[in-house]
Amino acid sequence: MVRITLVQGDITAEKADAIVNAANSSLLGGGGVDGAIHRRGGPEILAACEDLRRSHYGKGLPTGRAVATTAGRLAAGHVIHTVGPVWSREEDRSHLLASCYRESLRVADELGARTVAFPAISTGIYGWPMDDGARIAIETVRAARTSVEEVRFVLFDAAAHAVFETALGQA
Ligand code: ADP
Repeated sequence: MVRITLVQGDITAEKADAIVNAANSSLLGGGGVDGAIHRRGGPEILAACEDLRRSHYGKGLPTGRAVATTAGRLAAGHVIHTVGPVWSREEDRSHLLASCYRESLRVADELGARTVAFPAISTGIYGWPMDDGARIAIETVRAARTSVEEVRFVLFDAAAHAVFETALGQA
């Protein structure tokens, strides 16, 4: 079973084998964690994303999918970019959020990664409620068949960390 750990902080500083980026489908950068990863990781990450756009994802990376690039100047070994769903009150998109975690772990397995750091995907600009996002994240990682040994959730603030702590106790 995967060991789940929680830390509060900035995911761009993590020394994991791979860190996950809450990207958008363009793969060309954005706000939030995406912007921070590109800023700190340097232009090599964007160049790799542009190559992926040209070679495989001309229409963008679909929601719920994941793809890996170099981590540029970051301490991590790789960046796995995944596209979370935008929160919707009308439509249940939970399966797409779960897919982000599952697909990221599948890509991590392909990379041979043993430690993977995740942000709370979709809970920022995409508006997903933190408690539900935490529940889906933890349930999906617990149920995953993967060779990854440790999944570290890196929560940006104390409030998010507390919500994940509660979800970890309850899941
Ligand atoms: P999304 O568009 O998927 O909602 P965001 O980047 O806007 O992605 O937010 C996802 C989560 O990541 C939010 O909870 C946000 O507070 C958090 N976050 C933003 N910057 C960082 C960072 N540098 N490290 C870790 N988490 C971050």
